[in-house]
Parts: sequence; C-alpha cells; structure tokens
Amino acid sequence: MRCVVAPLLDGTLLTIPLEIVCGAADGPRLAVIAGVHGDELEGVRAVQILSTTLDQHSLTGTVLLIPVANMAAFAARTRRNPLDNTDLNRVFPGRPDGTISERLAYVIVNTLLADATLVVSLHGLGALGTLMPWMEFVDIPGSIGRASHTAALAFGFADLMPLPLLPGVLIAALAQRDIPAIEGEIGGMGTVDPANWQRYVIGVMRVMRHLMMIPNSPAYVEKPGYWELHWVHAPSGGLFDRRFALGDKVVYNQQLGVMFDPFGEPVDSVVAPCDGLAGACQTIASVHPGDPVALIWSPSQPRYVA
Ligand SMILES: [Zn+2]
Repeated sequence: MRCVVAPLLDGTLLTIPLEIVCGAADGPRLAVIAGVHGDELEGVRAVQILSTTLDQHSLTGTVLLIPVANMAAFAARTRRNPLDNTDLNRVFPGRPDGTISERLAYVIVNTLLADATLVVSLHGLGALGTLMPWMEFVDIPGSIGRASHTAALAFGFADLMPLPLLPGVLIAALAQRDIPAIEGEIGGMGTVDPANWQRYVIGVMRVMRHLMMIPNSPAYVEKPGYWELHWVHAPSGGLFDRRFALGDKVVYNQQLGVMFDPFGEPVDSVVAPCDGLAGACQTIASVHPGDPVALIWSPSQPRYVA
C-alpha cells in the first residue's frame, strides 16, 4: 500500500510505502518507521523483515510498518530530501502547504501516526560513518515521558539518550501530540548488516511484548547507561588521520585525529570536548570543514523519568 503525499514536477506522485498488520484481536496500535533519512538502511531492512514475518494470528492490536518514509532521499542515497535540500527530521510536524519535506512530515504525523499508541523510529549513521547502538526517548514530565522511557527500556538497547523536545524532530512532535515515541540508532556505512537489523527486529518484538501485543512476558533493561551526545566537528578540511576507535574511552582534550593538507602537512587537529566514550565516527578519511568526525558520549541522567 502507498500513501500519496503530493504530485511532483515530473508528473509522478511522492508516496510513502506502508503495510498494516491487523491482529486477531483489538489492542494497541504500534507504528514502526524507518528511512526518515535516506542513507540509513539498517532500519529499512528491519521493517522489511518485520513485514514478512509478523504473524497476524498471534497478534493483538495493529502494527503499522513504514519501511521508507523519505523515498526521494532514499532514491538519492542521501540524508536530506534532494527535492528541497531539507532534513526531514528537522521539520516535523510539517505543514500541509509547505515544501515537499514539510508536506511529507505533515502527512506522517497527522495522517499515518496520528492514532498510534507508540511510535518506534529506526535510524543509523549515514554512509560515511558508523556508531555504537543507542536508543533515544523524550525526557519530559508526565505520562508521555514515562511511556517513552519504559518503551526504550523494553527495546533492549543498554545505552539510552534522554532528549528534551528538540524542534523539528519526529519523536518530539509526537510527544507534543501525546504519543510516546522512541528513536533508535544503529550501524551505518550504507550497509544492511544482519547483526544490526536483527537487533532492530528483536527490539521491536520486545516492544510488542511490552505492549502485550504478542505472547510472553516483557523484559526490560535493568541497568541502562544514560548518556549525552557531543558531536566533534572538523575545524578544517583535509585527510583525517583518526586516532581513536569506536567504543574507546577518551578523556577531555585527548587528541582524536589530525587533518593533513594535500602536501601531507598537518593543518589542524580535533580533541575530545569531555571525558566519555567514542560513540560514533566518520569512517571516510576525506573530511570537509564542519564534518562530524566523532561523537563522544558523556555520562548523563534523565531529568524527569528515571
Ligand atoms: Zn537518522
């Protein structure tokens, strides 16, 4: 099935592919969405696997599966929608009369996800980098914050990122409509590694147990790590000699890498902004000024929900 967003310049329609799996009995409405960024592919594969394996006879409630939310970006293999050079996950909840990404955002929030009990959004790093898995939830006072946090614990990733209501981000726009939502991050480098998408599939099944949509009692991460994200951007372009590995423990001011000019002369370096863990890195060594070359996780605590 496809949901129509808008007619395009070339006479075709921008659509969102989706599948609805209706269970044998009424119950919660879980929505799983991937491909908000067009170059993050592990979640896309996870949703495809779910659409071919979910058993509607043993299901209570309904599962809405959206494998590729941002089809133009997916086709271009880019994070941003090339039709308006916009990051879809910065314009939620969108506008019905806006640019194509704003209209896409509007349809996703106001039509597809409007009556969801819980939304799971699956992301990753783009084709030029990789990361250690984590799960984000909206850390706000009240029942929506608590429901997001509990869903994140049910998903099973040990590392959680509490987020405030960031403007334009899907899970924040949903929380403002009283819909709890979580957003996962795994993989990168433009791959669909089974070790990664299987973790997403297992996580969604765990959330379904949490919502009592499938048999078996739920399980929750007992001692999650809470972290805050600190992106490190390249001060200048160059060939980047990275001097840390994914998962490394780093300390404040530790050198993370050096940029070399075309003649092999060092032109700049980057250092860790805080103590923490190296949670993501750009893997392509050719670096433009401003590129996010590293991500440091520093220990954190939720403000409202724990
Ligand atoms: Zn993303």
